[in-house]
Amino acid sequence: MRVLIKGAGVAGLTSAHELVARGAEVMVSDPSPGFASAASWYAGGMLAPWCERESAEEAVLTRGIGAADWWEAVLPAGSVHRNGTLVVAPPRDAAELKRFASRTSGFRWIGAEEIGALEPALAGRFRQALFFAEEAHLDPRLALSTLRQGLEAQGVVFSGGPIDEGRFDLTIDCTGAAQIGDIEGLRGVRGEMLYLQTEEVALSRPVRLLHPRIPLYIVPRSGGLFMCGATMIESDDAGPMTARSLMEILNGAYTLHPAFAEARLVETGTGVRPAYADNLPRVSRHESTITVNGLYRHGFLLSPALAEEVAALALGQPCGRPLPNPPPQGGGAKQPLRSPAIFDHRARCKGRDRGGGNAAEEAPPPCGEGLGRGEIRRVWRGMRKGFSERKCPMKFTINGEEHELPATTVADLLLLLEYEGEWLATAVNGELVHGADRARHRLSESDRIEILSPMQGG
Ligand SMILES: Cc1cc2nc3c(=O)[nH]c(=O)nc-3n(C[C@H](O)[C@H](O)[C@H](O)COP(=O)(O)OP(=O)(O)OC[C@H]3O[C@@H](n4cnc5c(N)ncnc54)[C@H](O)[C@@H]3O)c2cc1C
Repeated sequence: MRVLIKGAGVAGLTSAHELVARGAEVMVSDPSPGFASAASWYAGGMLAPWCERESAEEAVLTRGIGAADWWEAVLPAGSVHRNGTLVVAPPRDAAELKRFASRTSGFRWIGAEEIGALEPALAGRFRQALFFAEEAHLDPRLALSTLRQGLEAQGVVFSGGPIDEGRFDLTIDCTGAAQIGDIEGLRGVRGEMLYLQTEEVALSRPVRLLHPRIPLYIVPRSGGLFMCGATMIESDDAGPMTARSLMEILNGAYTLHPAFAEARLVETGTGVRPAYADNLPRVSRHESTITVNGLYRHGFLLSPALAEEVAALALGQPCGRPLPNPPPQGGGAKQPLRSPAIFDHRARCKGRDRGGGNAAEEAPPPCGEGLGRGEIRRVWRGMRKGFSERKCPMKFTINGEEHELPATTVADLLLLLEYEGEWLATAVNGELVHGADRARHRLSESDRIEILSPMQGG
C-alpha cells in the first residue's frame, strides 16, 4: 500500500514509523524545511501521564502509560529518561500542591530531605513535593530528528514540494494547527517557551513549580540547557513570545532557583497546540484520507498509541488494544468514520461510565452533576465552545452567590456563564483581573469572583 503522510510533526513521524514497520510504502510531505513550524519542535518532551491527569481525561493516562516504552524501543539507548517528575510549590502556595495531589495519582509525598537527595540543586528550597517516580522525559528535537533519519534510512522520501495525491492509496493528514478553520471545533492553544543555559544549576528530571496563576515547568536537556514553559493561551497566533509571557516564565524560573537569573536566554519560541473542545485527540477516516489531530499538550505522550491506531485503521488490521467503543453503525459513505479504538469519550470523568456510545458525547458531562438542569446545559454549551481545560467543578463565590463550576481560569468562567463582549470587569479575591489576563488567571477552590457587566439597554 502506498501512503502519503502530510505533516512531519510528531503525529506524522510516529504514524510513518508504524506504517513502515507494517510494510507500507510511505512518503512524507511537509512544506516547512526543518521542524520550525511544527508545534512538536517547541514541546517539553514530558511523558507525564499521571501529572497530566490533573487537568486531562482518564484516557490520557491510560493511553499515555505505554509512551515511554514505545519511545525507548524506537530511539537510541539513553534517549528516554525514566527518572520521574518532581512537583513543588513555595510554602505560600502549599494549597496548590494539595489541590494537584487531589487530582492525580501515581505519586508520593516527599519532604525536604528527599527533595535534596533527588535534586541537590533544590536542597533547602522546598519543604514538600510530589514525586511521580514512573514518569519519563525525552528531548523532542532529538526524537524528531532521529525518527526522520530512521525513516529515510528505510527508504521513506521526504518532500517539501507539491505532491500528486492521486498516486497514493491513502493519505494521512497530520498537519496539526494548519487545519484550524477546516476541521469543525479544532482550535489553537498557544504555547510560548524558552531555553535557558547555565552551568550553575543541575536538574536531572522535569520540575513543575505550582502557582495559582502561572504554573511553570523546567525540563533539563544536555549541555546545561533547560526548556522552560509554557503558556496556555486560547489563540492560534504563532507569533513571537510576548514580553509578559517572557517575564512570567523567567520569574517562575527564578523562583525555582535564583541562579537562573544569571542563565543565558538562548531561545524563545511559540508552538500552537491543536485541540478539540474536550482536549482529546481524534483519529477519523473519510474515504481515502485518515486525519489525526487534536493532540493538544500530549503529542509525545499520545502519538505512540495514536500511530498504532492509524496503522491499524489504514491497513485494516486489529489494533491489538481493547476496543472501548463499538464501531459507529450505519455511517453513510460520506460520513466521516471514527476509528473504533478512538479515545473513550465515556471516560470523561474519573471512575464514571455513562454508557450509550456516541450518545454520551451529546449528553452533559457527568462532572456537571450537582448543578441545576439549566446550568448543566449552559455549562455543556460553554464546554462545546471550547475552553482551556475541563475540570471537575470547584466552589466559587460569584457576585456574592455560591456556585460550583468546572472552570480553570477566569476566561473559562466567563465562557461557562456565557458572558460575552468587551464591557466587563472582573476581580478575583478583591484583585482586578484585566481582560488580557483572564485566560491565564487560574482559579482556586473558594475564590471570590466579581463580574461587572453593563445592564442591557441602560
Ligand atoms: C510549548 C509546548 C510544550 C509542549 N510540551 C509537551 C510535552 O511536554 N509533552 C507532550 O506530549 N506534548 C507537549 N506539547 C504538545 C505537542 O507538542 C503537540 O501535541 C504536538 O506537537 C502536535 O503534533 P502534530 O504532529 O499534530 O502537529 P505539529 O507538530 O504542529 O506538526 C504539523 C506539521 O504539519 C506541517 N504542515 C502544515 N500544513 C501542511 C500541509 N498542507 N502539507 C504538509 N504538511 C503540512 C507543518 O509544517 C508541521 O510540520 C507541547 C506543545 C507546546 C507548544
